[in-house]
Amino acid sequence: MKRLSVIVPVYNEEKMVPRTSAVISKILEKAKIDYEILFVNDGSKDMSWPAIAKECENNPKVRGICFSRNFGKEAAMFAGLECVRGECAVIIDCDLQHPPEKIVEMYRLWEAGYEVVEGVKSDRGKESLFHRILAKLFYKIISRITKIDMENASDFKLMDRKVIDVLNAMPERNVFFRALSSWVGFKSTQVSFKVHEREEGVSKWSAWALIKYAFSNIVSFTAAPMQIVTVMGTGFFFMAVILGIQSLVYKFMGRALEGFTTVIMIELLLGSIMMISMGIIGFYISKMYEELKGRPRYIIVQKLNEQCEE
Ligand code: UDP
Ligand code: MG
Repeated sequence: MKRLSVIVPVYNEEKMVPRTSAVISKILEKAKIDYEILFVNDGSKDMSWPAIAKECENNPKVRGICFSRNFGKEAAMFAGLECVRGECAVIIDCDLQHPPEKIVEMYRLWEAGYEVVEGVKSDRGKESLFHRILAKLFYKIISRITKIDMENASDFKLMDRKVIDVLNAMPERNVFFRALSSWVGFKSTQVSFKVHEREEGVSKWSAWALIKYAFSNIVSFTAAPMQIVTVMGTGFFFMAVILGIQSLVYKFMGRALEGFTTVIMIELLLGSIMMISMGIIGFYISKMYEELKGRPRYIIVQKLNEQCEE
């Protein structure tokens, strides 16, 4: 029988773990789908891991892996993909903001032959204005880069074993999972869902964390920001030529010395642009350094119900 693996990244969700586990297993049992649920404890600081351990004891189809510290949701998802054994796997948030009923719908589409089933948000749920604006800007940029409409994309998706193997074989460390799963191609379709409100706890994303996440994802997917530097440089070169000619003409007409303002402004502009450019280049170099070091994406310290065999 074909088995579906459900990957649930967990970070400080002690209250949600038993609930999520119960809801998902109930739905899948009702739909007569063979499953395993893999909780990936991403270095939670609360009692999430004991909660997962308890679920593993009660239900042999529940498994758990525990990181040595918080490595981020991206790492948790990849760890999940590497550890699952199902013929297909779905990734779902622990806070039940992704409606678990949809897993069945996704599974049926997979049975019908689709290899990637993307969960697409029909609306973005409750978010602060700031969050909304930032998210919009980020998705504009990333959609342009990847040429895939990502505005309503989410991490809620089902993937076939073939896709999982391809993702597992990728050596990159800084990856943007959402975009990567479209980038690999395969026969895909979409399922739209409504974002539920969080039942317990708070979102793990601060504004700063989101900005860092956005920037790092853009950088992981494209070198375009580095080319901005070249474009700006070229623009300034032309301006410099025009201004240079103008200054020379003025000089020969004996009207120099004025235009101190211009000089200062050019100085300031060039200075700032140069610094930004160096910053962008520096960011890429630091990312390359990270990839070069080849450190593991995550460190697993414990696994539970590892033996769950068919
Ligand atoms: N999460 C994680 N590691 C982190 C942050 C979050 O594994 O460092 C998990 C979290 O437990 C949840 C999912 O990722 O299952 C989505 O997190 P959250 O609800 O905070 O994000 P939002 O829904 O606000 O985008
Ligand atoms: Mg959430």
